[in-house]
Amino acid sequence: MFNDTAVQEILTSITNDDENSFSIIKCMLEGKTTDEEIAEVTEIRLNIVRRVLYKLYDAGIASYKRSKDPETQWYTYNWTFEEKKVFEILDEKYEKYSKEVNDSLEYEEGNMFFVCKNNDHRYNFEEASENNFTCGECGAPLEYQDNSAIIDELKELKDKIN
Ligand SMILES: [Zn+2]
Repeated sequence: MFNDTAVQEILTSITNDDENSFSIIKCMLEGKTTDEEIAEVTEIRLNIVRRVLYKLYDAGIASYKRSKDPETQWYTYNWTFEEKKVFEILDEKYEKYSKEVNDSLEYEEGNMFFVCKNNDHRYNFEEASENNFTCGECGAPLEYQDNSAIIDELKELKDKIN
């Protein structure tokens, strides 16, 4: 799953520490569950391991069970990496992106556009006509823009996503 750049992006955005977090998660997937074990196997400092684990916990992609050692009275935390949650986050991102592409496509198909050759400002028909087809920024006359290339690109993108 770490070869998937989308997964990497999610983990990086959560922990801000991709190198350590990948090692730590790999370690959890290999069956190490306590922070001490993880620190030992990965040779990452215990406080860094804990920091990454709590960041993952905060994002809902790691959980722990706490148990008390009856002799020492110390607590042990057994961590689990919640792979399912990562895929949920991925699905949400994908859906959001897909919706953005669809919305853009609808907007491009449903509007006419006018641009200023000076500063590339772009206006839809309503905006352009309100300003008598001059640029609101610099006053230059606007020119009609053929947006069929943009529409084609968005359609291609849509096909790729679906
Ligand atoms: Zn302008």
